[in-house]
Parts: sequence; C-alpha cells; structure tokens
Amino acid sequence: MLDESTSVVIIGAGQAGLSVAYYLQRLGMRAGTDFLVLDQGPGAGGAWQHRWESLRLGSAHRVHDLPGMKAIGLSFDDADRSRPARDVVMEYYSQYEMHYDLRVHRPVSVSAVFNRGADLIVRSDAGDVATHAVVNATGTWGAPFVPYYPGVLQFRGKQVHTATYRSAEDFRGQRVLVIGGGTSAIGFLLELEGVAAKTTWVTRRPVDFLDHGTLDLEDAVTAVSAQDAAARAGHALPSIVSGTGVPRTRRIAAGIARGVLDPRPMFERIDDTAAVWEDGTREPIDSIIWATGFRPDVRHLSPLHLHEKEGGIVVSTGAAERDPRIFFAGYGPTASTIGANRSGRTVARQVFSAIGGRVPAPPRPNQPPAPARARGSFRPATGEVPVTFREDAVPVTAAPAEDRDGVSILARFFADD
Ligand SMILES: Cc1cc2nc3c(=O)[nH]c(=O)nc-3n(C[C@H](O)[C@H](O)[C@H](O)COP(=O)(O)OP(=O)(O)OC[C@H]3O[C@@H](n4cnc5c(N)ncnc54)[C@H](O)[C@@H]3O)c2cc1C
Repeated sequence: MLDESTSVVIIGAGQAGLSVAYYLQRLGMRAGTDFLVLDQGPGAGGAWQHRWESLRLGSAHRVHDLPGMKAIGLSFDDADRSRPARDVVMEYYSQYEMHYDLRVHRPVSVSAVFNRGADLIVRSDAGDVATHAVVNATGTWGAPFVPYYPGVLQFRGKQVHTATYRSAEDFRGQRVLVIGGGTSAIGFLLELEGVAAKTTWVTRRPVDFLDHGTLDLEDAVTAVSAQDAAARAGHALPSIVSGTGVPRTRRIAAGIARGVLDPRPMFERIDDTAAVWEDGTREPIDSIIWATGFRPDVRHLSPLHLHEKEGGIVVSTGAAERDPRIFFAGYGPTASTIGANRSGRTVARQVFSAIGGRVPAPPRPNQPPAPARARGSFRPATGEVPVTFREDAVPVTAAPAEDRDGVSILARFFADD
C-alpha cells in the first residue's frame, strides 16, 4: 500500500516514463525515494504488452532503443523479428528496469491528481502519494477514439477497435469493414486477405500513397509542425498520417496492385447489417474494425482543470501552462519511441530544475500540507536548465536545439523510420 511522499511521481512506465526515470536517475535522483514510477499494466512493456500477436518489429514498426539500452547489451535493432513485438518489448523493458533498478510500482492505477496547495496528491488504487511534481507519461492506448456515425449503436455485428483487435482469425469467413487511413488499418487489411470473406476499406479523406517506400522529411516536418502548433495552442491534435501520407512499401504496393488496398470514401450511416453511403449504396457487413486512432489518456488529470476550451492542454516547454508542476512526456509531437526518448531527457532536466534539484519530499498524504510556498518559488520549466548530468557532465544549457523543439524531435523520428 502506498502512503508516501516523494519529490516526483512518474505516471506510466512505457518508453516515455522509463526514459524520464533513467534521466532523473542520472541527475542524481534515487528511484523509489526521490521519484516513484507507477504503472497500471500487469507487466513491463507499456502499451506494447497489449498489442496483437501478429504485430512484428520491422520496417513498419520500429522501436527505438531506450537511453542507456545499448550499454547493457540490448538493442531493438537486432531483436528477433519473427517473434511477436509485444513479447520482445516486454522482455527488453523488463531487463532494462531491472538493470537500472527503476523500481516500477505495478499494477498501480492512478485515478486522480489533486492540488494540495503547494503540493500535489496522486491518488491510486494502492493509496495516495504526496509530491512536488508529476510527469504524465500515460500514452494513448487507454483512450481509443471511435468517431460517431448514425446507426452505429443499432449495428448487430461485432465491432472492435485497434486497441481490442486480437487476430485476423476472429474474422474468418466474415465481411469486414475497416475504417481509418493509417498503418494499423492497412496492416489489418493485409492480414485479413484470404481469411475474411471480403474486406471493405473506408477512410475520411483520400489516402495519400507516397511514391517512395519511406517518409519524405519535408512531409513529416509539415505534419509534425501542425501537431506541434496544435499542442502549443491547446487544440486537439491532428493525425500525423493526414499530413505525411503513407509510404508505398513493397508490401503495400503489392496490396494496392492486388486490389486489397482500395479505399472508399466514408459511408453516411450504419444500419443493423450494412454500411450505407449518401447515394444509397449499401455494403452488407458482419464486423467493423475501427482503426481510428487514440487520444491522450489524461482523464486522471481532470481535477486540475488543465484543458482549454478548444479541447487540448497547452504544453509549451514540457509542462502544462495552467499548472507548471505537471509535465508531459510522449504527448502530442513526442508520441513515438524516439520522441519519447528525447522528451524523457528534456523533461527530466526541466523537472529537476523546476523542483530545485534534490529537495526534501513534501509531507506524507495523511499529514497536514506544507504552508503554501512563496509565490513563484516553483520555477516554471524552461529549456535553459542550469544543471549538469552526473555521468556525462554535458551542460544542459549546451543541449542541441532539437532537445527543446518538438518539431525537430519528431522530424528526426520520421527521418529515421
Ligand atoms: C498500434 C500502434 C503501433 C505503434 N507503433 C509504433 C512504432 O512502431 N514505432 C514508434 O516509435 N511508435 C509507435 N507507436 C507510437 C507509440 O506511441 C509508441 O509506441 C510509444 O511506445 C509510446 O510510449 P509511451 O510511453 O508514450 O506510452 P505507452 O507505451 O502507452 O505507456 C504508457 C504507460 O502508462 C500506463 N498508464 C496509463 N494510464 C495510467 C494510469 N492512469 N495509471 C497508471 N499507469 C497508467 C500504461 O499502463 C502504460 O504502461 C505505435 C502506436 C500504436 C497505437
């Protein structure tokens, strides 16, 4: 049972949370004492442990090494591509956590974060923790997004989302409607070929298949800039794929040639057994797969009222503008494994600076709160943090510009992939 106090609580032990933990440790903070990592998953692996069995690491899905991973003899670059990605990632993360002694508390589900004057209270099913700062690294897997279409509640067949998709076998012999224009939808269509009786693919906008097999850096920069601008302005985030297009890999090109990847425009409504278009065309279906993406999983932060009326949280330099004690890693423009690594590094420095280094933990949850600090004593995070790492002694103020710039961070991810 948790009834503790600590300087920093990291919620989530996926790529982003582990990366923050690693860098906080390198700044001299002790896992389990100066900071706590809480995760609701049953085991290591972040969202990867929940992904479907057939998903493999390879050209479409590439996980970047966590910081310090190569130093312990592990790298996803030479991981076994014939094994399910979820098993590989779970194993590697687990060894990483053990080696660096990150002491992740699991399964611990955070239900709310409250303001207690100078401090914050993190409430979980294992008890309360008082803290100076929270790093939210909860990813998106827990918040699948399904758009509303008329009739969807009357549909009699099966409906799954990417988050609940298990295997093409579950659709054997069925007529399947796949919705969404990203790599998950494309992966499902290719897997269902020869298993489902028929697939129909619909997308909100025409799919922009790129002429080349990798993403063009310019496309990526535009898309990421749009995400970055939205995150900074507190707007809901646009999809990356809408701005980048889908690279025509050999597998995808062959799927297009065979007619498996032939998107139709969105239907107007669903009835009990079919999708129906505006012109009255009706496509009988048995099942629907919603590959329609995810939203940031931040419901537990609602007591803090961080959202703007436009629907997003303004996060300009790693922390919420409405409460600079709440940091975000792996959110918006850094929602990829390489983005999560780099935001881990930046956010760790910002947190360390904002709380004033290794400071005493606040009073425990069941003790009276500390008197409110002098106004402004909690320094809002900035990219210019006057501290150095313990081991590599690189002055943070000399960090490359891309560490402080979400656009550059994600552009790199796309350039690499
Ligand atoms: C289908 C799919 C495929 C993808 N493929 C790739 C890819 O190939 N390469 C790539 O770079 N990116 C990919 N991504 C992007 C994805 O964002 C990254 O994989 C990255 O691993 C996400 O890391 P994260 O730490 O931000 O989130 P997650 O891995 O989701 O980790 C978040 C953690 O927070 C925990 N958590 C959530 N809520 C709570 C709570 N309330 N209390 C306690 N714990 C909580 C969860 O248990 C989880 O362990 C993919 C995304 C999807 C959906």
